[in-house]
Amino acid sequence: MKAKTSYKEALNNKIFTITSQAAATLNVKSYVIGGYVRDFLLNRGLKKDIDIVAVGSGIALAEKVSSLLPGKPKVQVFKNYGTAMLRHNDTDIEFVGARKESYQWESRKPHVETGTLEDDQNRRDFTINALALSLDEADFGELVDPFNGMDDLKKGIIRTPLDPDITYSDDPLRMMRAIRFATQLNFTIEEESLKAIGRNKDRISIISGERIVDELNKILMAPKPSTGFKLLHQTGLLQIILPELTALKGVEEVEGQTHKDNFYHTLEVVDNIAPNTDDVWLRWSALLHDIGKAPTKKFHKKIGWTFHGHEFVGGKMVKKLFERLHMPLNHKMKYVSKMVMLSSRPIVLAQDIVTDSAVRRLIFDAGEDVEDLMTLCEADITTKNPQKFKKYHNNFKIVRQKIVEVEERDHVRNFQPPISGEEIMEIFNLKPSREIGVLKEAIKEAILEGEIPNEYNAAHDFMMEKALKMGLKTN
Ligand code: ATP
Repeated sequence: MKAKTSYKEALNNKIFTITSQAAATLNVKSYVIGGYVRDFLLNRGLKKDIDIVAVGSGIALAEKVSSLLPGKPKVQVFKNYGTAMLRHNDTDIEFVGARKESYQWESRKPHVETGTLEDDQNRRDFTINALALSLDEADFGELVDPFNGMDDLKKGIIRTPLDPDITYSDDPLRMMRAIRFATQLNFTIEEESLKAIGRNKDRISIISGERIVDELNKILMAPKPSTGFKLLHQTGLLQIILPELTALKGVEEVEGQTHKDNFYHTLEVVDNIAPNTDDVWLRWSALLHDIGKAPTKKFHKKIGWTFHGHEFVGGKMVKKLFERLHMPLNHKMKYVSKMVMLSSRPIVLAQDIVTDSAVRRLIFDAGEDVEDLMTLCEADITTKNPQKFKKYHNNFKIVRQKIVEVEERDHVRNFQPPISGEEIMEIFNLKPSREIGVLKEAIKEAILEGEIPNEYNAAHDFMMEKALKMGLKTN
């Protein structure tokens, strides 16, 4: 028989001794299970989400625990799920009664019956997520590990406790979770499991966009997101959930001319940006920055491959993609779309001599997001030619510096026309008309081109001159 191992040091939080007392009073056994135990054993620190399973009523245990805690925190009960939650200090604790689950084909919502600890561990997605520590006084801290999850933790393996085909078919979200954990923890998905994901990929259709995106966000926020996207691709899931990305895969050759594989290029960009931003939307921008390249790809005899207008087309595709996956259609979507639309601008600018007016236009178009755009474009430099790599990065340094200088002088980041439409109407005694737009546009252009500074007097003089040429008369 295997020696029992105890991990009392994982249970220093007072909440565990109180749960232990509460469970003893109710005469039920209780365990901490799942992510908290996994992350502790991986030395990833102590999670702020704790899952407790009671062999009995989870709701009754939560209520008892609350009654023993100072301030008796409110217990949120989810009757339909047989779970209860409470918050203590900065920790969320979820209580659930040990259960046995069975599934129907068309839903990931199981039929639930009360069960033993073992039944409850059986319903868990992966062996590393089924590890439990006892909160019973008699064996406080003892590890309960029926599937050798400890071994998988040490070897870095994602494995399902039961037949993976059944596990994934029952709840297809687990396929996304497997890939997400493999990415976050830098683990390998065990071969049978990986094959089972491939076989069950179409089952993802019963999972909501929101849940899929939750997992995609976690993959994107990992230190090396490409791991996850490669696995999603390898299993066929990516083709179903983000066909815009798989459409970028491959290298075509016509008359000896090729283009780069924009799928692998994209993954490189996403990995490059990861150390430079924790903003999930900027990471999404990196992931989607080239999606317009598939529909715009053309071969021309004289110039080879082109992706003319791919930024604009890509920007438009962002909205459709967000709609399809039920992602927020608010300013976040607009931000990603704008990033995609502007994603080639800095590199074009940096290939040449960096002029003030080009930088001013960039600031004008990107506004508040100009630094994020620079971060994206720096990550986009994936050339393997060291000279080019150095040159682009150096040019981007100049662009960044110029952004600061030009903005300090010209304030075009949140451009407000120095002369309003109303004032123009008054000066020239005009009703709302085309001329007003023409004058406003001319002033803006003169500022962006650096012909005049972004100031009232200069704009006024410029406008008077222009108006004269247009034959307008003052009041
Ligand atoms: P993280 O917080 O990083 O997502 P976690 O493992 O704590 O990690 P939760 O989603 O909070 O993830 O789930 C808690 C536990 O519940 C998991 O460790 C696992 O045991 C179980 N679990 C969660 N989702 C599923 C699922 N879809 N199928 C089976 N078990 C699951």
